[in-house]
Amino acid sequence: MSRVNLVTGGAGFIGSHLCERLLQRGEEVLCLDNFFTGSKRNIQALMSHPGFELIRHDVTQPIFLEVHRIYNLACPASPIHYQFNPIKTVKTNVMGALNMLGLARRVKARILQASTSEVYGDPAVHPQKESYWGNVNPIGVRSCYDEGKRVAETLFFDYYRQHRLDIRVARIFNTYGPRMSVNDGRVVSNFVVQALEGAPITVYGEGEQTRSFCYVDDLVEGLIRLMDSDEVIGPINLGNPEEFTIRELADTVLELTGSTSQVIHKPLPPDDPVKRRPDITLAREKLGWSPTVKLREGLVKTIAYFRELLGK
Ligand code: NAD
Ligand code: UDP
Repeated sequence: MSRVNLVTGGAGFIGSHLCERLLQRGEEVLCLDNFFTGSKRNIQALMSHPGFELIRHDVTQPIFLEVHRIYNLACPASPIHYQFNPIKTVKTNVMGALNMLGLARRVKARILQASTSEVYGDPAVHPQKESYWGNVNPIGVRSCYDEGKRVAETLFFDYYRQHRLDIRVARIFNTYGPRMSVNDGRVVSNFVVQALEGAPITVYGEGEQTRSFCYVDDLVEGLIRLMDSDEVIGPINLGNPEEFTIRELADTVLELTGSTSQVIHKPLPPDDPVKRRPDITLAREKLGWSPTVKLREGLVKTIAYFRELLGK
């Protein structure tokens, strides 16, 4: 049997890049999505590929498919989208994980979970290593996502211990690039779209909080290396260890777009992590992986994408 990869959330930002890369490697792809935040535009170029199939389905419902590997990415990733219907976000994370783990067990597939740096919450340890257990508010507005992803990790490891399931868990840090949606709400797409439209750049709080931004091509390479590895199951951090304040990001976007937009400040959302940077020692040692795309370089590509999309 040829390799058939199920990519849940395959019509989303990261998922569509992953589908594309898997097809380029000569593998078959079943892309499953409910189109909550994903779009057909993201996968339009793949639709005519003979190795590509699309299934409209919600991971909170069981499904049976003959597949060899499962990449479980289905879940809105932007705070505004995952907070839109927080109960649904918990269901997507928990019931989605259960359904995909059940499927993997039944068909003996290897299964990778797209976990997140949000499992570290507002981290008291910096930079974050995989051994850190995190600092998560269990009842806050981000909890549906953070705790949902933590339970999903628990389920993955229980299936591994109880059923010897072949699992992989990636903890993904802030990733950006072409195909983020215009109304995604995350900081890179917000700032780029605002700069191109000449609208105010909305910095939340003073902009002193930090993030570390990974270009999507680097991230996808890390996900595939982890899936291919017979040595490491994770959890393993995937992200770019170069750390920037949000204010620095705003200034860089303004410079690279040549925009004259003004920076305005809006209130900091509740439980917004103060700083975040991955320790990627494990990924370097076990996967031979580290990011190759610098922030400025990745921003130039992202800006070009949004310029074309917006006709600016
Ligand atoms: P995205 O919102 O662009 O993609 C998520 C995809 O999942 C969308 O296509 C959406 O329609 C689909 N989806 C949502 N709920 C679903 C459901 N119940 N059933 C089927 N499909 C569903 O987000 P993204 O940035 O591409 O994130 C992909 C994955 O990576 C997510 O699991 C996210 O938690 C994880 N992740 C992303 C980042 C990041 O910075 N981009 C960081 C950490 C983790
Ligand atoms: N942010 C901001 N302006 C925006 C969107 C986000 O200043 O228009 C800030 C946000 O408060 C956070 C950081 O940028 O400190 C990253 O936010 P994002 O929603 O991209 O991801 P996350 O908080 O999940 O890392």
